[in-house]
Amino acid sequence: MNVLITGGAGFIGSHLCERLVAEGHHVICVDNLITGTRVNVSHLQSHGRFQFLEHNISQPLDVEGPLDHILHFASPASPPDYLKYPIQTLKVGSLGTLNALGIAKAKGAKFLLASTSEVYGDPQVHPQPEGYWGHVNPVGPRGVYDEAKRFAEALTMAYHREHGVDTRIVRIFNSYGPRMRLDDGRAIPTFIAQALRGEPLTVYGDGSQTRSFCYIDDLIEGIRRLMDSDLHEPVNLGNPDECAILEIAKRVLTYCKETASRIEFRPLPQDDPKQRQPDVTKAKTLLKWQPAIDLEEGLSKTIAWLSRYAGLSPSRG
Ligand code: UDP
Repeated sequence: MNVLITGGAGFIGSHLCERLVAEGHHVICVDNLITGTRVNVSHLQSHGRFQFLEHNISQPLDVEGPLDHILHFASPASPPDYLKYPIQTLKVGSLGTLNALGIAKAKGAKFLLASTSEVYGDPQVHPQPEGYWGHVNPVGPRGVYDEAKRFAEALTMAYHREHGVDTRIVRIFNSYGPRMRLDDGRAIPTFIAQALRGEPLTVYGDGSQTRSFCYIDDLIEGIRRLMDSDLHEPVNLGNPDECAILEIAKRVLTYCKETASRIEFRPLPQDDPKQRQPDVTKAKTLLKWQPAIDLEEGLSKTIAWLSRYAGLSPSRG
């Protein structure tokens, strides 16, 4: 297959590039590198089936030759990133999705949208099934990401219904693993970087807010199965093992054995969702998928990677 991946130099996108090249497919990775980095795909650069294009998909793109799949993963995705790039986030969810869908229509390619659990906002239904419409503040700080992704979903369904484009939508819940940026601001890489540097772990609020964290390899397997399915309605992918953020911080301290770090509490950001857990019944039933890697294994692998590749080692502060 010939596959175009927008956001291919980002955390999830780079793992998809790697998986698809390993399967024998040709991959075009498109990224403007505002939050992604070429380092994430440097090991693929010399591969004959891999091509990197530095381009902002919010601008139109001409691609030569046939394409079988377009995976639209371009977007800032961590809260500090989309607060720093609010307009780029709205543009890539709207104009970027429009351009990517336009390429899919022109090439007769399948299209997969990376959507998010943020479409559920601060949810009033728990756990969140795909049929829940969400509880989003459109004008709050997270609105730029949440509404961009909600619009992207609406646009994707419109291209499917109006133009017959063969589309998929994955709603990705919190995920983690190697190649997350140490400074991307999300809880797991932040806590690990702090523990490895011997700095205090900054838990926002009292840490009782929950998230459900999925290890990257499980997520990639789910996305791969969704690509091969004929499911056009959104599908949640995430690990239903829900955990309070304070517990995540404590586990990071436990697994970073030599750290002398402590936990410090900081103010809770505005509109921070109180709880989040995917209902993955649909993925289990229709994709025969379920996560296999638990927090202990996933956190240990992530800590090992960050220590090795980010040049951090366990510290006594
Ligand atoms: N969080 C925290 N300390 C940090 C970074 C994040 O306590 O240094 C909290 C954050 O307030 C949220 C949770 O961890 O309640 C998950 O945050 P993250 O940015 O990883 O993802 P999201 O809020 O988008 O789920």
